[in-house]
Amino acid sequence: MLNLVLFGPPGAGKGTQSDLLKKHFDLVHISTGDVFRSLDPSSDLAKLAKSYADKGNLVPDKITIEILESEVQKHSDINGVIYDGFPRTTDQATALDEFLAKKDTSVTLMLSLVVPEEELTQRLLERAKVSGRADDADPEIIQTRIENYNKSTAPVAGFYNQQGKLIEVNGVGSIDDIFNRLKEAIDAR
Ligand code: ADP
Repeated sequence: MLNLVLFGPPGAGKGTQSDLLKKHFDLVHISTGDVFRSLDPSSDLAKLAKSYADKGNLVPDKITIEILESEVQKHSDINGVIYDGFPRTTDQATALDEFLAKKDTSVTLMLSLVVPEEELTQRLLERAKVSGRADDADPEIIQTRIENYNKSTAPVAGFYNQQGKLIEVNGVGSIDDIFNRLKEAIDAR
């Protein structure tokens, strides 16, 4: 199985590149952000997730790990998965390793999209015009997301680096150029 963790700060292009990678390598794409946003808005779980996400904070690990595992279990007989926006803490990364080990598989690679902070804010404000996402529209909330990324999520790259699985990819350029960089990294594994 090809299990790819697509990593990078908010606005790095994980969703865009996941769509292309999913088609090219015939993978299932799981974005925890999309899963949270697609929950029935009247459910307690949706309200709880939204109370964190709208402020730019991470949803607690226990809830996120449960949601991720139940999403993976919906699929069987697949080539692999792109994990987009998960794991976002080292505890989530440990949980993913244990979960995949039980399924006799493991993370193949972490591909980390590297984009400078000034460009991230610009991209998210631009996306807000079409995404309708409260967490994209406000520069202060974007700042909180970037700070949470630097504090809680960036260390996850070290977790996979220790396993020799981290590959950094330049996330600046055209969508096609970035896709080709990712594809080369995966083909060279
Ligand atoms: P982006 O990558 O653009 O920040 P996402 O759509 O991946 O946005 O996530 C939106 C929000 O959903 C996050 O800010 C966070 O509140 C919540 N979320 C998504 N994935 C996770 C995760 N793995 N752990 C905790 N919270 C998460």
